[in-house]
Amino acid sequence: MEGCIFCKIANREIPAKLVFEDEQIIAFEDINPQAPIHILLIPKEHFASLKEIPEEKKELLSLLLLKARQIAHDKGMAEKGYRIVLNTGKDSGQEVFHIHFHLIGGRRMNWPPG
Ligand code: AMP
Ligand code: ZN
Repeated sequence: MEGCIFCKIANREIPAKLVFEDEQIIAFEDINPQAPIHILLIPKEHFASLKEIPEEKKELLSLLLLKARQIAHDKGMAEKGYRIVLNTGKDSGQEVFHIHFHLIGGRRMNWPPG
């Protein structure tokens, strides 16, 4: 998707601190971390948000979630916990319209979110 900053990261056109990559997924550190650990996980294929993901891509969504869990465990957050966030649309605060899961942890989270 032309002009999409996360497609550019997936294509290595702009740099990012990569945490994980395979054929379908890439994970990298958030440029403006909201906690000691803040990682974004995206599919390499462009979808603007959860709203645009077709039913037949449900496996991709599971892969992203399971990879977030694995990274959380690898980063030592399994015991204390962590938060996974999927902002969807304007009211959620979504700013980058290439679907991404936030994996956030390393500190106590507040609830409800702002
Ligand atoms: P959202 O508000 O859910 O769309 O989140 C977008 C996230 O992308 C924010 O947490 C930003 O800090 C992060 N972000 C934006 N540009 C970059 C970038 N070039 N590299 C890493 N993270 C980025
Ligand atoms: Zn994109």
